[in-house]
Amino acid sequence: MPTNIEWADLTDNIIRAKGGGWWCQKISEGCKNCYSEKLNQNSFFGGNKQPYSGQPPELVLDTEAIRKWGFQRKPKKHFVSSMTDVFGEWIPRSWQHEMLDGMFVAPKQIFQILTKRPEVMLSSINEWLSNHGLEELPSNIWVGTSIENRRTLEERSQFLTKIPALIRFWSVEPLLEDLGDITQYLNDVQLVIVGGESGPNSRPCHIEWINSIVQQCQSAKTPVFVKQLGANAIFGGQRFKTRHKKGGDIEEFPEYLQVRQFPFDA
Ligand code: SF4
Repeated sequence: MPTNIEWADLTDNIIRAKGGGWWCQKISEGCKNCYSEKLNQNSFFGGNKQPYSGQPPELVLDTEAIRKWGFQRKPKKHFVSSMTDVFGEWIPRSWQHEMLDGMFVAPKQIFQILTKRPEVMLSSINEWLSNHGLEELPSNIWVGTSIENRRTLEERSQFLTKIPALIRFWSVEPLLEDLGDITQYLNDVQLVIVGGESGPNSRPCHIEWINSIVQQCQSAKTPVFVKQLGANAIFGGQRFKTRHKKGGDIEEFPEYLQVRQFPFDA
């Protein structure tokens, strides 16, 4: 499905609830205002109204959508499973491996997989690599982890770093505090996406925090992609209002933040 997520061309939600809608399990501060849960509360958008806590509903894997990847000719960037965490503990490992198999036979497509559970991603991918006698993921499979604050930076980046992939990325969204000095991590990551929170009740994101990440990435020559300032952007202690509701129009960014890079011109 086409997406307005600035760093992808498509979203492929290959895991859904059997009766319609989606499901995920909230895990950290970044999940507080989960956009997927909000959509799932709305039957107009096909949601099943189940909260993202407790026990999962019965889920299905869309094997047909996976099979079609291999027949797509035009190269696209696919954000896979934007509505759930494909490395959630409730997702069968065989489904994760079927997904990776489908990506493996579609080398023209770029697949971006994002998780808040990189320790599960690491062990599942290692198992898949060893089943296939491979040492590294194919270059069209990008693996990323979400980072929202200093705690998740420390906890999650250590697992992501261990995944043998050409492109490892961070999605620093919603950025909830100044991450401070990140230079020690930047040699192990090939793309940093950064943005403030969007949607109702967005928590504040200071433009200075975004700028600190951008400056450090540029010094380290790590590609950086400023996705959005967020719906509650702050600059110099004051609200920084934008016409775009999530602050995602690059024309409205301060000039020094108008940066949207990808590794290898992807
Ligand atoms: S991991 Fe993502 S999809 Fe799942 S609850 Fe958290 S924010 Fe929502």
